[in-house]
Amino acid sequence: MKISNTIIDLIGDTPLVKLHKVTGDVTATVLVKLEYLNPGGSAKDRIAVRIIDAAERDGLLLPGGTIVEPTSGNTGVGLALVAQQRGYKCVFVLPDKVGEDKRNVLTAYGAEIVVTPTSVAPDDPESYYSVSDRLAREIPGAFKPNQYFNPNGPLSHYETTGPEIWRDTDGTVTHFVAGVGTGGTITGTGRYLREVSNGTVRIVGADPEGSVYSGGTGRPYLVEGVGEDFWPGAYDPAVVHEVIAVSDADSFAMTRRLALEEGILVGGSSGMAVVAALRLAATLTADDTVVVLLPDGGRGYLGKIFNDGWMRSYGFTNAPSGHTVANVLE
Ligand code: PMP
Repeated sequence: MKISNTIIDLIGDTPLVKLHKVTGDVTATVLVKLEYLNPGGSAKDRIAVRIIDAAERDGLLLPGGTIVEPTSGNTGVGLALVAQQRGYKCVFVLPDKVGEDKRNVLTAYGAEIVVTPTSVAPDDPESYYSVSDRLAREIPGAFKPNQYFNPNGPLSHYETTGPEIWRDTDGTVTHFVAGVGTGGTITGTGRYLREVSNGTVRIVGADPEGSVYSGGTGRPYLVEGVGEDFWPGAYDPAVVHEVIAVSDADSFAMTRRLALEEGILVGGSSGMAVVAALRLAATLTADDTVVVLLPDGGRGYLGKIFNDGWMRSYGFTNAPSGHTVANVLE
């Protein structure tokens, strides 16, 4: 029998699949790792388990405790899922710009949400940083994971994502590409792959144009979950050989192509990572194998990247569209 005891046991061990169409005349093998197949739909399930395990072990999270974190996205889902199974409460603080669908995912898993105004400075007492700090102080038994600085984020990828890639490619991986948000994915996975390969695997970050990792100042971009305007403790720049900056337009066009041509429905940071990987792969040979991590699925972006009206409103008019036939019929 092949039965998992709880949904948490299904986190990790995500598959690799080869890209065929979007690769053009690239001769290197390009493989993508599908993190949307985690139970909560993203790579963040991995860090949630590791962060909660460590907090239990260190006595920071006691039975009946409450997890408090400013997060609107995938980390919230991962934490909510694991917390629910272990009997903890979750309170997530999010800015009011976060759409209803994202809020509803968190409450569907049983988390409580506190909505704060977007248009205030980070040090304003009403900001989502300030409110989450205050709640973490005031709620008895509160634990704040602090994903940007918690070493268990990168450690979860060092212990799971890295070994899975090495095992599933029989040690033939030569390059690893991942988008950088907190930096946990690239730091943990990259460190493992460098160590296990005696330093031969090259680690390449993908970053939205304007973000600090590729030399920007924090200029705004639309791709979600990646790029920063500060340097988080979860990121170790010494692990990363190179960072490639990608525009929103290129990221979103590739995100659409992955769905249309490869049957892979993923988010914008996945499109961004694939653009970076293909630019890298264009300089490589048929002996190389590039593994690209795709952090989440595309369902959460149907109203944005996959919506022609939204794309047009931001001037992204060159992205391929699956609506061509419908347009002809109109
Ligand atoms: N893509 C998406 C959609 C994400 O939510 C995140 C996490 N912030 C990342 C990429 C980047 O992962 P990391 O935080 O490990 O750098």
